[in-house]
Amino acid sequence: MFPHHGMRHNQRVSRRTARALPAADPTGPCPCGLDRGYPDCCGRLHAGHATASTARELMRSRYSAFAVADEAYLLRSWHSSTRPARVGLDPRQQWSRLVVIGSTGGSLLHAEGTVEFRADYRVGGRTDSLHENSRFLREAGNWVYLAPVPG
Ligand SMILES: [Zn+2]
Repeated sequence: MFPHHGMRHNQRVSRRTARALPAADPTGPCPCGLDRGYPDCCGRLHAGHATASTARELMRSRYSAFAVADEAYLLRSWHSSTRPARVGLDPRQQWSRLVVIGSTGGSLLHAEGTVEFRADYRVGGRTDSLHENSRFLREAGNWVYLAPVPG
């Protein structure tokens, strides 16, 4: 999920600067688009107070983690076999909307699932979107992101 669009290796992205982004406002609505505040939605997962019960919930929380630049959460919600050393977040990239298009499996009763989504973002005054069908598995009981579905 989320290839390294506009990645800049020479820019240091610390949690401190990431938290200063508007999307990281702890009192604001959740970036994932559900009608809940961030602390009661994806923020619970980012803070480690809860785990995703479904692949869709994990997918939403990963989108939100991109929006609030929570690289640590992105890495720990990535399957160990495909997890990169670092994500390379671009602080200029502003994630503006998530649309979940469909999903298969990924429920409380499943061990794997897919979630197809479109994520809109702005970077440098340009609007673009990312479309991916992502594959999720359980690792040590918790949902994690594996990779895009091939093809
Ligand atoms: Zn959310």
